[in-house]
Amino acid sequence: MSNTFHHVDVNHPLLPEKAREFQMFINGKWTKGHSSENFVRKSPAHDIVVSTYPAGTAEDVDDAVKAAREAFDSGKWSRISGGARATVMLKTAQLIRENLAELALLETLETGKPLTQSRGEIQGAADIWEYAAGLARSVNGDSFNNLGDNMLGLVTREPIGVVGVITPWNFPFFIGAERYPYILAAGCTLVAKAAEITSGTTLLLAGILKEAGLPDGVFNVVTGSGSVVGQRITEHSDIDMVSFTGSTAVGQMALQASAKNIKRLGLELGGKNPQVVFADADMDAALDGTLFGFLFNTGQCCVSGSRLLVERSIHAEFCRKLVERAKKVQSGDPLNESTQIGAIITEKHYQTVLGYIEQGKKEGAQLLTGGSAVKTDKGLFIEPTIFDDVTPVMTVFREEIFGPVLCVTPFDSYEEAIRIANDTCYGLAASVWTSNLDKAVQGFRDLKAGRLWVNTTIAGGPELPSGGFKQSGIGRESGSYGLDEYTEIKSVHIQLGKRAKWLAE
Ligand code: NDP
Repeated sequence: MSNTFHHVDVNHPLLPEKAREFQMFINGKWTKGHSSENFVRKSPAHDIVVSTYPAGTAEDVDDAVKAAREAFDSGKWSRISGGARATVMLKTAQLIRENLAELALLETLETGKPLTQSRGEIQGAADIWEYAAGLARSVNGDSFNNLGDNMLGLVTREPIGVVGVITPWNFPFFIGAERYPYILAAGCTLVAKAAEITSGTTLLLAGILKEAGLPDGVFNVVTGSGSVVGQRITEHSDIDMVSFTGSTAVGQMALQASAKNIKRLGLELGGKNPQVVFADADMDAALDGTLFGFLFNTGQCCVSGSRLLVERSIHAEFCRKLVERAKKVQSGDPLNESTQIGAIITEKHYQTVLGYIEQGKKEGAQLLTGGSAVKTDKGLFIEPTIFDDVTPVMTVFREEIFGPVLCVTPFDSYEEAIRIANDTCYGLAASVWTSNLDKAVQGFRDLKAGRLWVNTTIAGGPELPSGGFKQSGIGRESGSYGLDEYTEIKSVHIQLGKRAKWLAE
């Protein structure tokens, strides 16, 4: 085993003595809901119980939707000024910062990600709340003053209504922050369902929003499983829009369920994202970016750069140096301040990732480093794993592994690189590494993905939109583009003076 693995310290002073007992948040109140059953969450790194949640039911969703609908129709949030909404949202950002230590620790205990990373994500989330508060003041439409003397045309935006938000376990607080503030800035009300195993920080956010002055019923959280709570949200007739983030398979189910009342659907789904490295790239930068791109969040990241396409003339040198660097990455106990990558989210997912690694070996990919679970008493850890000579027919090339696994494929020409990069049903993100400006621009034009990086990866703030081409999704989150998704457009023709009569007298 590598000497950069930090064994789990089960006596760490930050570990809780007993599990935190959460309730759901409906209509401004904490509630156990209709079920007497609880769901128990263990830290995937420490194997101790850290949180318990009510196992929500379809009736709990109905209660939350009723509260959100009444809050929306009352106008107490949907019809107040953007400035008044911004005040609550800025206070929310401030409270997130004040509670950063508690939020980050809970995030780490439930997800197994490094505490240093959780702090960065909570900080980043507060920034998004501030940014979106500004947008609340600038939701605007358009006017047409060119329709002749007797006519004025207006295009106005209105909040779409009640939004159901289903989020995954990989970035519970941050992915929420890429959605909730835009939904609230638009004037909508919402019912949130975080992944059952990582609902803690979404519930802490509910308390923060109440303290910040958000009216009751505007933000509701129902805890519970996807098959019960999530399913009810996607098919509920009184929900106007669903924002779903997760696997493509469940996204397809959400698409079918939403047909019932033709609700609008935003989908952010899987990815099998290429990092295309040309021979003229700054090698040191490309090596570091490739490493970060496939290992960030232990590879459990929808925009993970999980496929490396590298020009054949530098392929051998690049792979050798990449392996040397991969061995230096510090993994293990997420509470250790030096740890860079933490645990795998659940035993089930750990087995899935290990299964893909075995599949890669069987299909003839060449294992350069890693390839096994880390042998340790506690926790679910997998070694950073790099496969070389991966061809497009192999399962590890095609399917989203969602773990610390990189698949390397060499290429001989620009055209071949683009063809291999686009040879996937996904189209979420891609990175191009080159010092040639023409190639960089041509590359981001030719790559079929919603989010592109040139000479960097997994970078950026809330200003730019994110979302996928092909089976990676529908719609965009973030920026003013994200906010627009949560609005309905209304066109208004205003007749000035007398209207020309249809029926002659
Ligand atoms: P899922 O798609 O199953 O889960 C995402 C969210 O959807 C969770 O809140 C889940 O609830 C909920 N959900 C599950 N079933 C339904 C349903 N029938 N109707 C409505 N909502 C539902 O992802 P997994 O957690 O199982 O992860 C599996 C794979 O998905 C990963 O390996 C990865 O490939 C991909 N994934 C992609 C993510 C991304 O950011 N694009 C994020 C997470 C996963 P609950 O978990 O409580 O059951």
